[in-house]
Amino acid sequence: MCQRGNPWEPVTKAGWAKLALGTGYSSWTGLVPVASPGNHQVIRFADALVPNPVRPGACRFVEVAILMAMPLAEKSLIEDIRRSARAAGSSVRIGIGDDCAVIRRPRGHEILVTTDFTLENIHFRRAWHTPEVVGRRCLTRGLSDLAAMGGRPLAAFLSLALPADLPRRWVDRFMRGLLTLAHEHNVPLAGGDTAQSPKHILADIVVVGSAPNRTAIVRSGAKPGDRIYVTGELGAGTAALKEFFARQKPHPKDYPRHFHPAPRLEVGEFLRSHQIASAMIDLSDGLSTDLAHICEESRVGAEILADAIPRARVGRKREPVSLKLALDGGEDYELLFTARAGKRVPPTIAGLPLTPIGRITHGKRILLRTSTGTETLQPQGWEHFRR
Ligand SMILES: [Mg+2]
Repeated sequence: MCQRGNPWEPVTKAGWAKLALGTGYSSWTGLVPVASPGNHQVIRFADALVPNPVRPGACRFVEVAILMAMPLAEKSLIEDIRRSARAAGSSVRIGIGDDCAVIRRPRGHEILVTTDFTLENIHFRRAWHTPEVVGRRCLTRGLSDLAAMGGRPLAAFLSLALPADLPRRWVDRFMRGLLTLAHEHNVPLAGGDTAQSPKHILADIVVVGSAPNRTAIVRSGAKPGDRIYVTGELGAGTAALKEFFARQKPHPKDYPRHFHPAPRLEVGEFLRSHQIASAMIDLSDGLSTDLAHICEESRVGAEILADAIPRARVGRKREPVSLKLALDGGEDYELLFTARAGKRVPPTIAGLPLTPIGRITHGKRILLRTSTGTETLQPQGWEHFRR
């Protein structure tokens, strides 16, 4: 009788896998073990007793390779990132490779810094999102925060914690997605860190930018009487997640804001340089939650019109999302801003529509006016994958 029924099970310590090389069974050559080697290294060969597939019930010795999961080679990873990130802009004097990056600050500007986590199973799932999409969304989060203050990016920094068995190809594709967006906005990747994570992928993006002294648009600048505006359409970011949860497979073409988000840097800078916005925030958590942030920081209330909210059209049929999704869905990366009542606000900036949706009021409540009445709008922004 065979001692071991399944030749593909780990033979020694957890995390080790073996691969039959085909010795004695030429037909086995090329078989892939259950634990597919991502970053594995053969540490020794050994004989193992396995069932004979030709004669059921019999078994025989074959030579197996014992593989060990190896951590992603940090040095070669950093070298590759450095090579692909080389198209540095003029803002970075010293980038990847030294103890610190050295960044040039434009004369008369202040420095803006933001940091955002991208966590596996919180912000993305490997089964749902390609590595390129994860990389793009990771940098979008940082750049969108900068856009929300009217800043211009100077450099980005990326820290990655990766499980040892993560295929190197995943990281390469993640970097491709991230750097494609970086190049679109001419943002040099100027540094970061890598470490091994026990199980999941963690990415932290830091974006450094600048704005002329004392001009960055803050959340606390809204005053009663100001008009409230949003850019683009709302609800598309979360609509795709809803599809995933419903066990549908949303097509990236039908949900571009989810799979191919773009930070509204140009719009943010225009609103700042033309002194249009009195307060601003990016819509990462959802309108109801992000408007509450502005109201809290500005110590004001707000009133918004349900019918005025531009609802995203998604799916193959381009149907508008529900009002709830437009109000509470997050990860749209549009901008929400206020402007004084008399201020001229263009209908579009850089081809993107700006829609008035309400006004800032005295008091603390946020009211939603619908065709049937008025209700208090509770901040119920999307909490990612918590359901
Ligand atoms: Mg933000």
